Amino acid sequence: MKKIFLIVAFLSMFSVQLLAQTEGGGCSTRISPSQEKWLKQWVKQHGSTYKNVKSGILYMPIKAHVVGRDNGTGYYSLATLLQVICELNTRYQPVGFYFYLDPVIDYVDNTLFYQDGSSQDAYNSMAANNVADEINMYFVQASPGLCGYYAPWLDCVCIIGGCGQPGGTTITHELGHFFSLPHTFNGWEGGNTPGPGQLELVNGSNCSTAGDYFCDTPADFLSYRWNCPYVGTQTDPTGTPYNPDPTFYMSYASDICTNRFSNLQIGAMQANANTRTTMINQGTPNMNVVSQLPLNCHPANFDFNLNPTNTVLHWTKPTNAMYSLVQVAAYGGAIIKEIITADTLLVLNNLNSSSPYQWRVRGFNVGYTCDNATTFSNWNIFSTGEQSTSINNLSSTRKVYSYKNANTAIGIAYYSEVKAEQVSVRILNIQGVTILQQSITIGLNILEGLNALPAGTYFALVYENGFNFAQIKIVK
Ligand SMILES: [Zn+2]
Repeated sequence: MKKIFLIVAFLSMFSVQLLAQTEGGGCSTRISPSQEKWLKQWVKQHGSTYKNVKSGILYMPIKAHVVGRDNGTGYYSLATLLQVICELNTRYQPVGFYFYLDPVIDYVDNTLFYQDGSSQDAYNSMAANNVADEINMYFVQASPGLCGYYAPWLDCVCIIGGCGQPGGTTITHELGHFFSLPHTFNGWEGGNTPGPGQLELVNGSNCSTAGDYFCDTPADFLSYRWNCPYVGTQTDPTGTPYNPDPTFYMSYASDICTNRFSNLQIGAMQANANTRTTMINQGTPNMNVVSQLPLNCHPANFDFNLNPTNTVLHWTKPTNAMYSLVQVAAYGGAIIKEIITADTLLVLNNLNSSSPYQWRVRGFNVGYTCDNATTFSNWNIFSTGEQSTSINNLSSTRKVYSYKNANTAIGIAYYSEVKAEQVSVRILNIQGVTILQQSITIGLNILEGLNALPAGTYFALVYENGFNFAQIKIVK
């Protein structure tokens, strides 16, 4: 008898899995049997006495795995990532959780994973890429019929990019699963009807042993996306009409209806998080507020004739910001490059020649990712010229490039973290004879003497206190 029951239970779980794949924009997650067992035990011990008394904030890092096509395109936007983490922290504030970003983004180029986040390729890749002691979060293009899911056997979440947008609550919901929460309609997933012992009654008489086990979430049976308020007439087995609460993140009510976790849900999540000791005990992240713009953004608006194989973007970070997020786009078009860097310069070495682009930058900290609408610089438009120079560089603290300005005058762009250096340039002809010398400063320096010389090949040697640290071939 027991054996037959187990087989039936197994088959019904299997059918839930299959049916879940066809849900419209939902989440295929059911928490694992071991999580469910843990949760039932927690409710038994604490359900009737739990008081939500926050005893400090738990800080937890998010490891973002951005999945793209094999050719490295299609990535989820990092600007969006920063914004949704900001929103998560607002929504989880009543829970006492604070999420911060691991600034090292993991890019996974795998078309099969990208197109189907619930494929075997996806699971294999997650198993290979998960890192310990962080909340592993994968961003993909699609997972047919789903908005996201939590994979209990891998302890990570997968988010469909289109559902992981500011204002949406998919990530909030999947993290609820991550911290042990079932759906408020637990057992009804995929159109199933729970067995008699598992079907939560509206009168609350079995609320701690059926449904989601929480007595402060009313009985819910809606396993498909629904719009609030509930206006149906369905009744439970006692004939009592259902009145599901659409405000819970763990329900399937539309995102705009959901705005909270219940007290017992919060208690269970806190208890679950406290078992993740190596995740929560990594210190407090840098939460300094960044509200200022980056300054000194180069290229400036309407800079022309930049070297397509060596265009250097540089800027001054806002006060307090540890990291910068840089976006480069085709002029008036799609973002072609987006990176997080602790540096204050970015070299673009594969732009098209004679083409217009635009770029912008914002500062942030791993524990402060909010964009208050004034933190991104304006888009600066620039265009490349023909490739005419070659570069020989250098160090992470000092970079030298040749460039042409709008009048095709040749100059040296010099960037250094050390402000007080005495730097000079010697120009040599093809025979190695020095023909002129001038001092340069940080920024753009037109080489007036070189521009007066005839067309040909020249070399610029850059010196600091007599020490030659860069050589650049210039063809004019
Ligand atoms: Zn779910």
